[in-house]
Amino acid sequence: MKIHNFSAGPSILPQEVLQKASEAVVEFNNIGLSLLEISHRSKHFVDVMENARALALELLGLEGKGYKALFLQGGASMQFIMVAQNLLEKRAGYLNTGTWSDNAIKEARIYDDIHEVASSKEAGFNYIPKGYTIPEDYDYFHCTSNNTIFGTQMKQFPKSPIPMVCDMSSDIFSRQLDFSKFDLIYAGAQKNMGPAGTTLVVVKEDILGKVSRKIPSILDYQVHIAKGSMFNTPPVFAIYTSMLTLEWIKNLGGIQAMEKANEMKSRVIYSEIDLNPLFKGYAAKDDRSMMNATFTLVNDNLKETFETMIKEAGISGLNGHRSVGGYRASMYNALPLDSVKALVEVMSELETKA
Ligand code: PMP
Repeated sequence: MKIHNFSAGPSILPQEVLQKASEAVVEFNNIGLSLLEISHRSKHFVDVMENARALALELLGLEGKGYKALFLQGGASMQFIMVAQNLLEKRAGYLNTGTWSDNAIKEARIYDDIHEVASSKEAGFNYIPKGYTIPEDYDYFHCTSNNTIFGTQMKQFPKSPIPMVCDMSSDIFSRQLDFSKFDLIYAGAQKNMGPAGTTLVVVKEDILGKVSRKIPSILDYQVHIAKGSMFNTPPVFAIYTSMLTLEWIKNLGGIQAMEKANEMKSRVIYSEIDLNPLFKGYAAKDDRSMMNATFTLVNDNLKETFETMIKEAGISGLNGHRSVGGYRASMYNALPLDSVKALVEVMSELETKA
């Protein structure tokens, strides 16, 4: 039976990417060796790294605009620390829109003063605050474009008078934005890009080198840039697989094509959530995420029936995050529209049974 994979992350990857990645584990580039048993300094891997870095900038429309792409380790959580290490001198402003922003704030507070410019914590993070001010004398402004757990997504970004840093872990490469508005973007690979183990960082070089603290080499963006993203042994498999996904996106028409498909998928799921009286959406309508649709059953007595039906339809990974409960349909780039249709079919069938 076909499995419809709605997992929030690690999550669905394109079949052809999985196929090619698995072939490279057995033998890479017809060299008689696995990708996993050659030097990361060999031409074979250096080409992968360079291609992945170039593709990331190309897809984001940031080539030749003073940005560098890096593939680092430590997950997006490591970026909570690296951003502060590299950019925080006195004070920074953070928009608190969910658990991950909250964690980013907590980590940055180890270094210096952090001001929450706005927060939706009091409302269970079910909306994106708007109309806040970003003080000009702060070092940077940090936001999270998509809140994986609560299912909200920033549709508009502020005009920031200071460098704008954005955690795009759960919606990178899924929709068109003017990426040049951002000075630093980071995203863990394990949603729209590849396996866990690497994090894409895209940084505008001219914002670096301005803090007075000494930065340990491995946490210093300038060191990683100088070393071509090979300061130490990189996670070769995660980077190769990410490169394959970036090629897959490019071949399908780039971010524009991803956005079109994602809009369609989210329209299908949200119209069912809104029309079916058995379900209720969690996020404020204007702020609903195209990547993670969060919803609950109005009547808990139907839980067992619904979950049995889901299982029978081959739907996997639909449970909401443990902190929110309910359901979360994660619809990353590689999830086909057919999977969303299969879920919606089960939801409407439940209505006829109830
Ligand atoms: N930011 C966001 C928006 C996330 O969704 C996640 C993980 N789901 C993280 C940060 C943390 O990522 P990691 O596990 O790679 O540290």
